[in-house]
Amino acid sequence: RAKHEGRGAIRLFTSAMDQQLRDRRALEHDLRNAVERGELYLEYQPQQHRDGTLMAYEALVRWRHPVRGIIPPGEFIPIAEQSGSIAEIDDWVLMEACREAASWDQPLRVAVNVSAAQFRRENLDGQVRRALRDSGLAAARLELEITEGVLIEDMSRAKRTMQSLKALGILIALDDFGTGYSSLSYLEAFPLDRIKIDRSFVASLGQSERSLAIVRAVIGLAHGLGVPVLAEGIETETQMSVLVQEGCDEMQGYLIGRPGSLARSRQSKNASRRAAS
Ligand code: C2E
Ligand code: MG
Ligand code: MG
Ligand code: MG
Repeated sequence: RAKHEGRGAIRLFTSAMDQQLRDRRALEHDLRNAVERGELYLEYQPQQHRDGTLMAYEALVRWRHPVRGIIPPGEFIPIAEQSGSIAEIDDWVLMEACREAASWDQPLRVAVNVSAAQFRRENLDGQVRRALRDSGLAAARLELEITEGVLIEDMSRAKRTMQSLKALGILIALDDFGTGYSSLSYLEAFPLDRIKIDRSFVASLGQSERSLAIVRAVIGLAHGLGVPVLAEGIETETQMSVLVQEGCDEMQGYLIGRPGSLARSRQSKNASRRAAS
């Protein structure tokens, strides 16, 4: 009897795995056509200076799937990276973000996330140059967000890529700092314009002395190198005031504004909301 049940459980387990695999295959397939069907769109999340001035918006991609509804990037970017459709998505995001930013009524910066695959591509600088030219966006208004992982793979190559990007006049931010390898050598080696402290450290500020110690150390280190620090994922006034007190330069998170579509009214509302603080 027990044996029988056991087999049943295995069969159930196997069919659940089958289902998962089929789901994934279907997503991979749909993803291949998502760009040309116009199913991707960008939301923008504000980044502000500690004095409350709106500085920039980070572009965050979403997929409006015709049947499953809105799928967040954490779910489909990894699939795109493994199934080879990431390049087309990356191209679209970069072009769309530049094009939209060029039409904003304030000349704010736009931050665009770069996938590992995109950073490794031979012609990233050419791709960026084309996006700037076709959109008319000033290079100084574009910031690319890269993660630690792309830097350690091949340091000398990453350095060349960074230099060719910097030569275009764009900015480069190190995203999710503290979650990857956090090697101090690349802070020295790479010309970074901004370090973004990962939101996992911000999340426990005010509760954990340890995260405070880490945040303080990252800010001190970055400032020692002359690089401004942005804290991401700020959700509470407590987190905000600790970060201001610790000398953090810039802020991003639900407390300031959630990612959303950019109506003109929102651009100015966000700019004035925290101006008093
Ligand atoms: P990320 O670049 O670190 O972006 C921050 C993520 O944290 C975003 O999630 C944002 O919505 C979320 N977030 C912002 N403030 C808060 C907050 O106060 N609390 C909480 N709980 N979350 C907050 P999202 O949009 O789901 O994006 C997840 C990740 O997907 C991004 O992390 C980025 O690595 C990747 N991603 C997003 N858009 C793109 C894209 O266009 N291209 C590529 N290659 N990757 C992208
Ligand atoms: Mg980012
Ligand atoms: Mg981040
Ligand atoms: Mg993050």
